[in-house]
Amino acid sequence: MKITFLSGGTGTPKLIRGFRKILNDEDISVIVNTAEDMWIYGSHLSPDIDTLMYLFSGMLDTDRWWGIKGDTTVTNDFLKSLGEDVYLTLGDKDRAVNIARGRLLREGKTLTEATSELCRRLGVSANILPMCDTEITTNILTEKGLIHFQEYWVKHRANIGIRKIKRTFKISPIATNDALSSLKQSDLIIVGPSNPVTSISPILECSGIIQSLKEKPVVAVSPFIGDKPVSGPAKELMDAWNIPSNSKGAYSLYRDFTDLFIQDIRDSETIEGAVKFDTLMLNENISKSLAENIIKEVRELI
Ligand code: GDP
Repeated sequence: MKITFLSGGTGTPKLIRGFRKILNDEDISVIVNTAEDMWIYGSHLSPDIDTLMYLFSGMLDTDRWWGIKGDTTVTNDFLKSLGEDVYLTLGDKDRAVNIARGRLLREGKTLTEATSELCRRLGVSANILPMCDTEITTNILTEKGLIHFQEYWVKHRANIGIRKIKRTFKISPIATNDALSSLKQSDLIIVGPSNPVTSISPILECSGIIQSLKEKPVVAVSPFIGDKPVSGPAKELMDAWNIPSNSKGAYSLYRDFTDLFIQDIRDSETIEGAVKFDTLMLNENISKSLAENIIKEVRELI
């Protein structure tokens, strides 16, 4: 069975970790959010792509769900002592990956090509696909002006009111051919439990994605348990969109193309037609059970 996931950098990678126990990496494709990318100190940060590359190469720090395990921060610390305003802590190896990607991009490679090259070098055999090859950024309009999502979340820890969420781009985002053909060739698409506003919606906004999802069996997994996300600022962001920060809210964004919606057993409300499983992936075994439950449930769909 071939599965394509739509993913950000935390919730969906936790689910993919479970699917890796029952599928070969070669049969897993991941269309990844790139709206949190940024150029920083001459290198190119693509946090969600990095998390997936590190997951599949076995390097991911799964305590934090970002960065490389055991990485040091010598460069970061010295930049700080030079008086630089360093709010994003980047490990030394992590930074090396960002430097290599920056070079590939500056030499004219697309983000898809640069990712494929880095995956090859890191021994990743899953198919990791940026959602689009042009730059798009999730910015947050706050009382401090328009700031990059990373600045909102990492520097201000979401403790700053949101006036508006704004996607900024020069060229309207178009899904890459690789992303679209992976959707076409898959038996099943899984919209993982990632942040609906900053991780999944940017992918859905790439032209071609929603149309392709409508042609395939799609399972979506809620990133909410009760009225809270498991981690991150999804509540504040959903509030800014006037959508409830619960499974019902997430479902309202996905219902047009979703065949099966998964919510958590702890949710008090039950969405019509949805299935409830334990989605709180505290460890690899829970991720694997959730993956097995999803596979059992979709047997009829595919
Ligand atoms: P980001 O790119 O780091 O923001 O990561 P994602 O968007 O992929 O993941 C953040 C979302 O994952 C949050 O909305 C969390 O609620 C959700 N999440 C994290 N861990 C879990 C989990 O174990 N279960 C579920 N259902 N959602 C989770």
